[in-house]
Amino acid sequence: MLGIQSKNCDIQKWRAFYRNNSIPESVETSVIPSTVVDDYGTKKFLLTLNDGLETESVILPIEGYKKKRHTLCVSSQVGCAMGCDFCQTAQMGLLRNLTTAEIIAQWHAANHALGTKIDNIVFMGMGEPLENLDAVIPAIEILADNNGPAIASSRICVSTVGRIEGIKLLAAMARTDGYKRLSLAFSINAPNDEIRKKIMPLAKAVSMKQLRNAILAYPRHDVGGVLAEYVLIPGVNDSDEHAVEICEYLKPIGCGLNIIPYNPRDNSPWPAPTETSVNRFVAVAKNTGQFVRRRITLGRDAMAACGQLGNTEHKK
Ligand code: SF4
Repeated sequence: MLGIQSKNCDIQKWRAFYRNNSIPESVETSVIPSTVVDDYGTKKFLLTLNDGLETESVILPIEGYKKKRHTLCVSSQVGCAMGCDFCQTAQMGLLRNLTTAEIIAQWHAANHALGTKIDNIVFMGMGEPLENLDAVIPAIEILADNNGPAIASSRICVSTVGRIEGIKLLAAMARTDGYKRLSLAFSINAPNDEIRKKIMPLAKAVSMKQLRNAILAYPRHDVGGVLAEYVLIPGVNDSDEHAVEICEYLKPIGCGLNIIPYNPRDNSPWPAPTETSVNRFVAVAKNTGQFVRRRITLGRDAMAACGQLGNTEHKK
């Protein structure tokens, strides 16, 4: 067993809550989902917590082979301390970690209050999940519980900016029976350390080489399991040379590269990239032999897209 696994996870207690179709008393009275929906059906919803702070979560409809699936993007913290320059949440700073109950409440609200059956969970909302593993690991256990949400661990993905110690702990969980297909996404966002340091403060402490070594040690059972994410920012990391350089960096890992066209935060110094520049970057990257996917931009109008979550009013 993991050192931190199950520390505050009482599966029996949670099963009682599933049966009663309710969530623990710590958040029970305060969950008032308010939602914003965009033209594509992307729903951003807020949960008001007991102390007046809010979580933000997003339900993303994805057209599957035979049917539409729904991915729930959950928050693990209110705000975030990582300070990524392109991210709205960073503008809030870190207000606090969410509890396990508050993370599960987001699934509960999506599934029951909003009536959307959730197929996939991504920890890509507000916060750096590996900074709050004491709550995130039990949340994964509960989400994967066959008597509860029953979301297979292969359908759960944790995204990090590169917290090495956290990656090691998550890797330990991914070596445990029942969680062997737990996915890891890492937010790389730059082709080299020089550019990464300009947009991600963590890069001053963790080099891309160190990050790659940690990723290489993450257990994988097939070609999936690990994914690199790259927010494409005009004039920062979007040249043809950058496309070739990031693919070269990823070669030893052999993972997919997800291109996320930048979604401008409040007071953004950069615009969103044009379709032409996104398509060109993707084409150059693909030409190197790299498996590349372009993330469809959902929720930008509702400020529900990647990097756009967070209510900076709470900072005050
Ligand atoms: S991108 Fe993620 S880690 Fe970076 S500031 Fe935003 S929420 Fe935090």
